[in-house]
Amino acid sequence: MAYDRNNVFAKILRGEIPCKKVFEDDWALAFHDINPQAPVHVLVVPKGEYVSLDDFTANASEAEIAGFFRAVGQVARELGVTGPGYRALSNVGHDGQQEVPHLHFHIFAGRRLGRMVARAE
Ligand code: AMP
Repeated sequence: MAYDRNNVFAKILRGEIPCKKVFEDDWALAFHDINPQAPVHVLVVPKGEYVSLDDFTANASEAEIAGFFRAVGQVARELGVTGPGYRALSNVGHDGQQEVPHLHFHIFAGRRLGRMVARAE
């Protein structure tokens, strides 16, 4: 799947639409999810143009991968959620029900988060 430069996170990265920023470094931007599913729901996105975790792990440089994953952990630490715990999750593709085609990790925290996935319907 080719990267779509008009996806909403690309627009946020370019500053074309606003976000509630919580963290930024050379590799990643983190901001509050517009439709939070937990008391803490933050998205961490890499600065590079990668559709998904699949695209990123296949095509990103070692520096981008290290920088991005360090940022995911740092965001959680800065949010103060590492003590009680949190969930980091990345949806990929159709069955993962990924909506925005720019790699992102969700960080959920602030309550007991329940089962990892819903039971089969
Ligand atoms: P996913 O289904 O993993 O692709 O999740 C996409 C997430 O992006 C959802 O949780 C949305 O609520 C969130 N989202 C969509 N548009 C925005 C936006 N403009 N700012 C912040 N979060 C957004």
